[in-house]
Amino acid sequence: MSILNADLHCHSVVSDGTLTPEALAARAHNNGVELWALTDHDEIGGQHRAAAAAKALGMGYLTGTEISITFAGKTVHIVGLGFDADDPSMVQGLQQTRGGRGLRAQEMSDSLAAVGIKGAYEGALKYVGNPELISRTHFARYLVEAGVCKETNEVFRKYLTEGKPGFVPHRWATLRDAVTWITAAGGMAIIAHPARYGFTANEEFALFSEFKAHGGQGVEVVTGSHTSAEYVKYADMAREFSLAASRGSDFHSPDESHTDLGTLPYLPGELTPVWELLTHRIL
Ligand code: AMP
Ligand code: MN
Ligand code: MN
Ligand code: MN
Repeated sequence: MSILNADLHCHSVVSDGTLTPEALAARAHNNGVELWALTDHDEIGGQHRAAAAAKALGMGYLTGTEISITFAGKTVHIVGLGFDADDPSMVQGLQQTRGGRGLRAQEMSDSLAAVGIKGAYEGALKYVGNPELISRTHFARYLVEAGVCKETNEVFRKYLTEGKPGFVPHRWATLRDAVTWITAAGGMAIIAHPARYGFTANEEFALFSEFKAHGGQGVEVVTGSHTSAEYVKYADMAREFSLAASRGSDFHSPDESHTDLGTLPYLPGELTPVWELLTHRIL
């Protein structure tokens, strides 16, 4: 095992989490996290706050983000770690990626109205911490508030996902762009929670191969989105593709997330942890 309590995936109010970067840092530190990264969706606006909060607590920090891309017709997430948070191409690329969210949200609201759920756009907005980052999570919180569903997980089973009311197909960044932004800014690109995408073995092979070809170096193995059988499967994939392995809770909120910061099992020992390749980028 790699005995380091690293938690390299979570979200703040700068994207779709409910805690501030400072509150997340305190929670991670209280839970024994030794190396932390805040990885807001398509956003790096919280990076300086997160790094300062980690430093004040004496906790190691890697800059982070989670970029939405479209691959084989599905939305895939690419985590970036250890990049320069002021890199102009990265800042501009992410701004472009965020650009379509406002219109998409209006269309999601129209689609929900068509099944009788009115005012979802305005309702979701109440939960938004960053006006550039309205996400499905904010809609899910509103649908719970409105009594349409009991909890956000139920929302994603019944609404907002492919084939269900409120789903709007969207074209995000390309795999090549996301990996290039991250690596050109001095960081490491990592495939987030690969088990979540529902790819066939062929599609998954294509994702891993193209990701490597563009310069991607890591894959999340131990994440709040994987079962223990999936830890084993993606540990094998990491070895097969010579990728470093990452660990992160994907924590969003004390009320919604079942995996808290710093509480996952350690990475299997035979893998190279991403942080061993990023020691020079730890703040
Ligand atoms: P968006 O970037 O607007 O498409 O929103 C994606 C976010 O919705 C993810 O980052 C999760 O926080 C949340 N989400 C997506 N699918 C699910 C699901 N099945 N269960 C719970 N949360 C989900
Ligand atoms: Mn999220
Ligand atoms: Mn994700
Ligand atoms: Mn995430």
